[in-house]
Amino acid sequence: MASNRLALVVGAGIGGLAAGVALQRADWHVRVFERAESPRELGFALLLAPNAVSALRAIGVADRVVAAGVVPDSGEIYGTNARFLRAFDTTALRRVLPDPMAVVLRPALHGVLMDALGADALVLGRAATGFTVRDGRPSVVLETGDTVEGDVLIGADGVGSAIRRALHPDEPPPRSSGLWAIRGVAHDVERWLDGFSGATYFLRGIEAGLARATRDAVYWYMSVPPRLLRDGRDPAALAAALVVQFDERYRRLVFATRPADMRLDELFDRPPLAEWGRGPVTLLGDAAHPMLPHAGQGAAQALEDAATLGDALADAGDIPSALRRYEATRQPRTRAITALSRRNARFGSIDNALACRLRDLVLRFIPDALFVKQYVAVGQRPPLR
Ligand SMILES: Cc1cc2nc3c(=O)[nH]c(=O)nc-3n(C[C@H](O)[C@H](O)[C@H](O)COP(=O)(O)OP(=O)(O)OC[C@H]3O[C@@H](n4cnc5c(N)ncnc54)[C@H](O)[C@@H]3O)c2cc1C
Repeated sequence: MASNRLALVVGAGIGGLAAGVALQRADWHVRVFERAESPRELGFALLLAPNAVSALRAIGVADRVVAAGVVPDSGEIYGTNARFLRAFDTTALRRVLPDPMAVVLRPALHGVLMDALGADALVLGRAATGFTVRDGRPSVVLETGDTVEGDVLIGADGVGSAIRRALHPDEPPPRSSGLWAIRGVAHDVERWLDGFSGATYFLRGIEAGLARATRDAVYWYMSVPPRLLRDGRDPAALAAALVVQFDERYRRLVFATRPADMRLDELFDRPPLAEWGRGPVTLLGDAAHPMLPHAGQGAAQALEDAATLGDALADAGDIPSALRRYEATRQPRTRAITALSRRNARFGSIDNALACRLRDLVLRFIPDALFVKQYVAVGQRPPLR
């Protein structure tokens, strides 16, 4: 019934590509419009929480993505002055969650999704500026002035979404958290890894981490307040100035990273929308619910959106009703995780010396079972409907 229906997706990030794959599996034709001339995914690497891997499984690509990355089997936690606080065995999580966590290079995830979608479905170098709806059918309006009509329109165009702006013209722009992220990937560093999976650091005002992303590459990141960025906006120079506060391993990995493999981003989110879409138009991923990265869930939530959308639109009779069902399923979870990300960001940004000592104590003595419980609450596969 649905096989001659056309879904228009704006944005070929992780969310838009995954939505395209999910909709093809639900027997839709798909066109994904991407403003960039060549498909790319910057940011170097990504922690895919177990629920992200479950969502990838729902759209049929989990095994390929996991095979391209690393499944961590342990984690270490460091506190003030990069002092070791504890180690954490992730095998307990693997026993209770349906899928593992994985760390992957972003281009690897992007490549698997693009392969699954197929080049014919991708329209590059086409920025959308908005949409129109006539007789219940949406058309995407492109920067060139061209329009393309379809049966459903999905805005997956990221935190500054043009489709969101067209749906909600009075909404204020995304809000800055005041935090910045420096990220990088160190390649060819296997000789220093020796069984290492990953580590999280809670220093004064800085939350940071290391995660092995392939046999010989490590992803590192730091969340930094603006007072520490006084020396400019060059990620390599900033990272070099900040790593003096870290341990030898972190320093070594940052200094082994080529400047071209680092980036600096200001971190934004948005208060949740009461209504995501209207009629045959909806939003997905960061366009719908941009969140701070401190819960490691932005891409996971975009992937869950995609799986849920595919399910809602499979054999959908009335498209607007199916989209409102999708939104009603996704809104409570993404709202809760956006709030969790803010709370985590506050926890990770604690700067006061005494409060940092207290945080160290909490991190050191909190029972493993509580860690696992917290993680399982987010990492569990959510219902699709
Ligand atoms: C520092 C940092 C670390 C992170 N770490 C993690 C992590 O470890 N785990 C995790 O799950 N998440 C993480 N995230 C979040 C994750 O990166 C995002 O949530 C995810 O990439 C969102 O995907 P998306 O497809 O919705 O949006 P985007 O990735 O923003 O993709 C949007 C796409 O739309 C295109 N586009 C934009 N405007 C238009 C237009 N008008 N017309 C056509 N195309 C357009 C863009 O070029 C882009 O390709 C992190 C984020 C940051 C900032």
